[in-house]
Amino acid sequence: MNKKIVLSSFKNASSKDWGDWRWQLQNRFTKISSIKHFPIKYFPNQINADKIASVYPMAVTPYYLSLIQEDASGDAITAQCIPDMREITLGQKYPEDPLEEDSKMPVPKLIHRYTDRCLALVTEVCAVHCRHCNRKRFWAKPNSGNFKTRLGGFIRYLEKSPQIREVIISGGDPLIYDDEKLEIILAGIKTVQNVEIIRIGSRMPAVMPMRITKTLCRILKRYRPLWFNTQFNSPAELTADAARACNMLQEAGIPVSNQSVLIKGVNDSEDKMRALLYGLQKISVRPYYLFHCEPVKGCWHFRTSIESGIKMMENLRRECSGLALPQYVADIPGKAGKIPLVSISSSTKAQMHKYQYFFDNFT
Ligand SMILES: *Cc1c(COP(=O)(O)O)cnc(C)c1O
Repeated sequence: MNKKIVLSSFKNASSKDWGDWRWQLQNRFTKISSIKHFPIKYFPNQINADKIASVYPMAVTPYYLSLIQEDASGDAITAQCIPDMREITLGQKYPEDPLEEDSKMPVPKLIHRYTDRCLALVTEVCAVHCRHCNRKRFWAKPNSGNFKTRLGGFIRYLEKSPQIREVIISGGDPLIYDDEKLEIILAGIKTVQNVEIIRIGSRMPAVMPMRITKTLCRILKRYRPLWFNTQFNSPAELTADAARACNMLQEAGIPVSNQSVLIKGVNDSEDKMRALLYGLQKISVRPYYLFHCEPVKGCWHFRTSIESGIKMMENLRRECSGLALPQYVADIPGKAGKIPLVSISSSTKAQMHKYQYFFDNFT
């Protein structure tokens, strides 16, 4: 579709409204019936989707909806934001929380699995409900409790954990908060002496890039060293608006990197992945991780095999710039954490054998 088609379903909305993140948030599409009036070619398969939306609610910003292309059945945006029957019919034995995150919190909503860093889930709310989300279980709950109480718990834990030097602020999407609340969170965490680095995990540059405002950048700039990790999964998401949002962060001295999820039909071919990685490199966003899609209930149809993922990345490694290559990893519960998925091909093994002396210590 495009901005014009989507805007036409709002009576009095202007282009200025479109560029305002609050307008985008307030006018999200949350019912299949609210997108039925758009040309059928965009949504040919969504007749029964209201049933799914009652289990895993739908939320799509007008901006993200406008990125849907004509051939909707294989569309990367549709796959990521429009409910699909397979979410409630396939892979129902998968757990809702395969990483057992909920049982590993020393204080509510803080996950501490690795020594020097922890993950602070500051909200359960997002701008868009990604159908491949590994925390779909959050959607059923409204934001629980007062955010200051939650923040107080984080700060007390950080103060008595001197080994933690980095805090990842995630959720949900932390940028769902307005600037004022976000600054309270940043300032609170920064009061802890041992916290040297803040990392924000947010999908806003991909799903609601107008959230990245001048004011927000001014605030974030004050809390450097601050690293921003976002999630682009398809070149269709790398729009001029998205590039502008990333550029604003970069101009504020904030490095932007990207964590993708390997999603069947969206980015599981060499051509699609190459286009995504080159596109990211062109806007100076460093591909960081490519996550193997976790066995989460409701995500069965998005999963590829590890073998095909390794093969794809191995082929890309041979031709692409190292700066464009993310590390392909699988997260598993327990101490192992994120495991790099690599294999050494037989031709590489033969080369290594030929140059055995590179790997040996000579006496
Ligand atoms: C992924 C993750 C991190 C961050 O790990 P990096 O490898 O530094 O990106 C931190 N805490 C938890 C609980 C995580 O799942």
